[in-house]
Amino acid sequence: MTIVIKVSENIKQKMVEYYKNVRREKTPPYALFQAMEADTIITLYESGKAMFQGISADIDANIWIDMEKKINNRTIDINESKKEKEKYKEELNYYYSMSTIGSDEVGTGDYFGPIVVTASYVDKKNIDLINELGVKDSKKLNDEKILKIAPILMKQIPYVTFTLNNQEYNKYQSIGYNMNKIKAILHNKVLYSLTHKEENYPYQKIVVDQFVYPKKYFEHISEATEKVKDITFTTKAESKCASVAVASIISRYIFLLKIDEMSKEIGIDIPKGANDIVDEAGKKITEKYGFNKLNEIAKLNFKNTEKIKLATKK
Ligand code: MG
Repeated sequence: MTIVIKVSENIKQKMVEYYKNVRREKTPPYALFQAMEADTIITLYESGKAMFQGISADIDANIWIDMEKKINNRTIDINESKKEKEKYKEELNYYYSMSTIGSDEVGTGDYFGPIVVTASYVDKKNIDLINELGVKDSKKLNDEKILKIAPILMKQIPYVTFTLNNQEYNKYQSIGYNMNKIKAILHNKVLYSLTHKEENYPYQKIVVDQFVYPKKYFEHISEATEKVKDITFTTKAESKCASVAVASIISRYIFLLKIDEMSKEIGIDIPKGANDIVDEAGKKITEKYGFNKLNEIAKLNFKNTEKIKLATKK
């Protein structure tokens, strides 16, 4: 049994004092202490949240519920704890009960290859269907699975996608646009385009996987003449919202195809990411085609560029 209650400041202090001698050695993050008394584990958080775990958790929790009543004349409903848990579950499933438009991007952490941003519309009627494809855990899908399910999704789900090649990326960088500004511009672009198609999608919310504070996002797109304003920003959106998950899968799919195409074109396997293997590939490409080739296929402002330069300057 787990019971969570929220205690007042004065009760917090009393709890710290009361459990002083039964404290555990380790304190969990954001907790004031964790203690073990009889069979109950008690954790008190800085926020005043007190968690009681064990078969007799209710007995221990009741000591403090009574104390709240006596000292502060405050009534704590022990069922609140259950409600809280349900609320959290509901929150996780919140966007999964509605029709949404969502966007997500890939390629921003990869030295080679473009940035791909996609917005998709998922009607609530289609949510079960796409979940059967494994969309809900999009982060965990490997490339092989992405290559398999993305084409199915692209047939059934309305979407708009945009690919920013590296020549354009490097141009943006040279005029002082940072990565977040570029992302914001691209998200706005695909969202605007999807919400202004001939067909009107009956979406209830527009969700963006948050990469920057909303205020900053709108600053970044302040020069755009066409803007989508009514956006819900949330982190880890691809696990909360079906349209973001679908957008992320389609973006990854297009990115993979592009990397594959580039590799074939130049006859060198192009790796993802920005690690040492990437430097190695960069070296090979520079030796074969010259340094200027990187402007076409890589994000020049990444640290990799310097390393490749150094390695080939002999
Ligand atoms: Mg994202």
